[in-house]
Amino acid sequence: MDANTIRFLIFIAVFALMLILEAFIPRHPIVDSKLRRVGINLTLTGVNILLVKLVFGAAAIGAARFAEDRGWGLFNYLEWPDGLEFFLAMVFLDLMIYLQHVVVHMIPLFWRFHVVHHSDLDLDVSSGLRFHPIEILGSMVYKIGIVFALGPDPLAVLVFEAILNGMAQFSHSNITLPEKLDYVMRWVLVTPDMHRIHHSVVVQETNSNFGFNLSVWDRMLGTYIRDAMKRQPEIIIGVDTFRRSEEVSFQKLLAMPFRKVPQAYTNAP
Ligand SMILES: [Zn+2]
Ligand SMILES: [Zn+2]
Repeated sequence: MDANTIRFLIFIAVFALMLILEAFIPRHPIVDSKLRRVGINLTLTGVNILLVKLVFGAAAIGAARFAEDRGWGLFNYLEWPDGLEFFLAMVFLDLMIYLQHVVVHMIPLFWRFHVVHHSDLDLDVSSGLRFHPIEILGSMVYKIGIVFALGPDPLAVLVFEAILNGMAQFSHSNITLPEKLDYVMRWVLVTPDMHRIHHSVVVQETNSNFGFNLSVWDRMLGTYIRDAMKRQPEIIIGVDTFRRSEEVSFQKLLAMPFRKVPQAYTNAP
């Protein structure tokens, strides 16, 4: 089995597991049609997968192989122990993804695209895949740049991408974790309750909890909020401008960056 097949199988397995858990232990009441939203989010994902495949091929992992062959990037130059480089690459890539997320919230032009992710009226496993195709392309270019500069082991990039995908599905899922487990996990990892605060309509809450895998960046850099103003099941999800399902149809999501988007959210965190 090649790397892409393994990634795809992990993706399907986590997706199915989260859907089942969402049915049995939901955390937040739903306001929009789940079938419709999941349909839209998966269609967007299909477009994004096609686009990335057509434009970039294996993208980030390919970039890591390319850099390795040519001795590009910090790690290819330093030649530290493999295990240490592997670990540092995973942590560093996560920090870079965190910073990217902060930047797409701060810069109005980038927010126009990222708002598509935030316009979901409910959160579930499929929300973790809901990104405008242009944001996906931008992320790929950014990641390739980082991989060229860092020169990580291609396997580290592959593992990082697989973990990032799995964690995005987990942290967006509408599941209830035992309070103790959420508390303990949050010391290191982003949990669904932590990320749900990031999807609140309240501006200060949207501009917090930017982490995808590790929660430590939010804690260290002052963007962490433990509790939203409302209780978890009462958090209003989305952005204040788009409150109706007709405003967030598939076509409207594609066109959203080119229309009027709520700029109040682009205040620095
Ligand atoms: Zn965001
Ligand atoms: Zn999110």
